[in-house]
Amino acid sequence: MHYPSPVNSKLSISVHSQRKSSKDMHAKGIDPTTGFLDRGECLALTTRMAAQATQTGRPLASLWIDLDRLKQVNESFGHLGGDTVIVQIAERLREKSGGRAEWCRMGGDEFVGLATDCDAAHALQLAHDVLQAIETPLRFGEFALHPSASIGVALLEPNEDPFAFLERADRAMSTAKRQGGGRVVASGDEPVPGRLGILLAREELEIENRLHLALENGGLTLHYQPIIGFDGRIEAVEALMRCGASNELIPPGKFIPVAEKTGLVIRLGEWSLLAGARFARDLEDAGRRTKVAINVSRAQLVSPKFTQALHAALLCANVNAELIELELTESLFMDISETVQSNLRAARDAGVGLAIDDFGTGYSCLANLKDIPATKLKLDRAFVTVLPHDRRAFAVVKAMTQLGRELGMTIVAEGVEKIEQLDSLREAGVDAIQGYIHARPMPEEALMNWFHERKAT
Ligand code: C2E
Ligand code: CA
Ligand code: CA
Repeated sequence: MHYPSPVNSKLSISVHSQRKSSKDMHAKGIDPTTGFLDRGECLALTTRMAAQATQTGRPLASLWIDLDRLKQVNESFGHLGGDTVIVQIAERLREKSGGRAEWCRMGGDEFVGLATDCDAAHALQLAHDVLQAIETPLRFGEFALHPSASIGVALLEPNEDPFAFLERADRAMSTAKRQGGGRVVASGDEPVPGRLGILLAREELEIENRLHLALENGGLTLHYQPIIGFDGRIEAVEALMRCGASNELIPPGKFIPVAEKTGLVIRLGEWSLLAGARFARDLEDAGRRTKVAINVSRAQLVSPKFTQALHAALLCANVNAELIELELTESLFMDISETVQSNLRAARDAGVGLAIDDFGTGYSCLANLKDIPATKLKLDRAFVTVLPHDRRAFAVVKAMTQLGRELGMTIVAEGVEKIEQLDSLREAGVDAIQGYIHARPMPEEALMNWFHERKAT
């Protein structure tokens, strides 16, 4: 099979430079410093191995490795120093791969490994093993050098040009480098522009598409999780967004970060405000008057349009504002801009409750609490999971509870799963509990049944 040489690529340019310097070499096709195949041979070898992989149907992987910061070593220790590092790194590559790969030096501080019969999982494992080996400190005279590398991994695709295959590994390596180095990136995982032109990894791109589809075709739903007071009252239900059909739901832990990155979170947030407010009205109509707590993201709250969106939701749902509570993560309160303050004030003026979510995980100072017009404090699950054994955590929970209480807030603990945690939180003075111990988040209908069964017992 004949593969055309790529035009204008990093590979073709280097083939020429390799040819020019070949007369300096000890053995043709071998890099004298490392004993690895040189760039020209690497290209020939890749072509042979790719043809073989196509024939046998066995997967072929390439690893493109570029040492981070070698330029600094050269500048500090001169080229001889740099060469010593290269020799030792080459030794580590050879040792660590234990015959799993053929190694080539592409010049400077770049290496390529080719591994036959190596699927994606094995290739990534090999890349991580090699990275770990490279990152072991090197003694260099009196100094210890901490090498690191960026590694790109590609798997040969059916009928793929071997040059294109190598270039994909090279591009993935560049992405690893751009992300700060010291990491492995698989080809295909590099960020590509999404529908809104924002760079996303392939998985994120898929999620962005599904979010657009969900927004257009009604694939969003809210599940509700009850928050129950120690006095047995239902304090509120929290609205938690779900995306997709019930058999292939994407969890919010995955889609919210993508929505935040792309700005879609504003549209999602407006949707959940309206849907949550409507449900509060439905509950009231069904004789189950309960507050609905709706999560609001930072992007929504920093926008001057937020107050308008909130009023629109209250109006459309025709709901009493006191039945709505907004959950805002603690990190929002680190810097409160004029816009955020006026949005918060407008919400309070309208009668909407404000809860500080995930409290204790951000960096906001307890003293900041006095400036926030919040009505509820939700202690993060991280404090709850270590109870009752962690007495220091217990002391912190108790102190936060007291302070919150003195500021007139209701204190809720999140993520309560065990009876011992519940007892400990009662002792600390917490008002209400949210967690699997009482109920998991559930669709509207299931929540209605849950109410019904609860009343019956
Ligand atoms: P969050 O606001 O802190 O919501 C509580 C999360 O804890 C929920 O996860 C809930 O299912 C989970 N949880 C409740 N009880 C327990 C428990 O006992 N054990 C454990 N392990 N987990 C428990 P979920 O539904 O996956 O939501 C995750 C996060 O996604 C939320 O955390 C919130 O930050 C975000 N989110 C969800 N819906 C929305 C939304 O409509 N808008 C925005 N902006 N963010 C949302
Ligand atoms: Ca929340
Ligand atoms: Ca929370």
